[in-house]
Amino acid sequence: MTIQTIGVVGAGTMGNGIAHVCAKAGFNIILVEVEQRFLDRGIAAITKNLAREVEKAKLTAEHRDAALARIHGTLSRDPLASCQLVIEAASERFEIKQQLFQQLDQLCPPETILASNTSSISITKLAGQTRRPDRVIGMHFFNPVPIMKLVEVIRGLATSDDTYAAVKEAAERLGKTPVEVNDAPGFVSNRVLMPLINEAIYSVMEGVATPEAVDEVFKLGMAHPMGPLTLADFIGLDVCLDIMRVLQEGLGDPKYRPCPLLIKMVDAGWLGRKSGRGFYKYE
Ligand code: NAD
Repeated sequence: MTIQTIGVVGAGTMGNGIAHVCAKAGFNIILVEVEQRFLDRGIAAITKNLAREVEKAKLTAEHRDAALARIHGTLSRDPLASCQLVIEAASERFEIKQQLFQQLDQLCPPETILASNTSSISITKLAGQTRRPDRVIGMHFFNPVPIMKLVEVIRGLATSDDTYAAVKEAAERLGKTPVEVNDAPGFVSNRVLMPLINEAIYSVMEGVATPEAVDEVFKLGMAHPMGPLTLADFIGLDVCLDIMRVLQEGLGDPKYRPCPLLIKMVDAGWLGRKSGRGFYKYE
């Protein structure tokens, strides 16, 4: 099967980035949202980010215009029936994704691959909402999508080799590097990253070091481009807490218990960059 048209469900932070890279790579895009204002915001972000690439001479104005012309934004899910691949990037709530996978399964031809960009929900469980579990897979992009090279490709229990091969090829066409992992809580990325962030927060809570000192240790000693607490602020402390809870529940080991300071900060509304305050303050 040749993938020509890709559906992207959700035009938020990740969905607009995914639509951006797919359109730039020459795919036709059906970008679906629930409200016009979210669709407009997503398309405005894509337009701005593509313009920035033109300014930096990474893209020609013709190429930008062609990419934008390939994006068809809509509030209707019906046009998704013309897609060979649908990438779901809606909000991280199981009920939303459950309903979407049931609807996509009804709407799309049986050969259409249904992928999710979820950070933490089981791909096997999403596949179980459909009659095509062999054609359901995880495509976990990283923020900001146009810049980050990795796509963690997650195989559910029933994902077929053909589905994996088609998604790997599509990811490579986007200029990304797919890395194959099996379905398990947090996959590989968050299974390893979130306990690191959580432990960094324990170090602050127990007075071992300040946030600045923890981040310096990782930048200068481990060559991380940003320290774990700066990264936590960037990801969103609420998102970090949700993922720790997924690890705790899914793996059952007390080593995954979220740090009380993380819980307290989320309760206070200190969510990181997006709320103006996390481990650091933002204008
Ligand atoms: P976001 O809140 O920025 O965007 C989600 C969008 O989905 C919103 O615009 C919302 O209106 C839309 N939406 C909700 N229900 C919908 C539906 N039924 N149909 C169509 N659109 C719908 O969230 P995000 O950060 O872009 O995250 C999206 C997904 O990507 C989540 O599963 C998240 O776990 C995952 N993810 C996020 C990051 C990140 O750094 N933000 C990284 C990797 C993966």
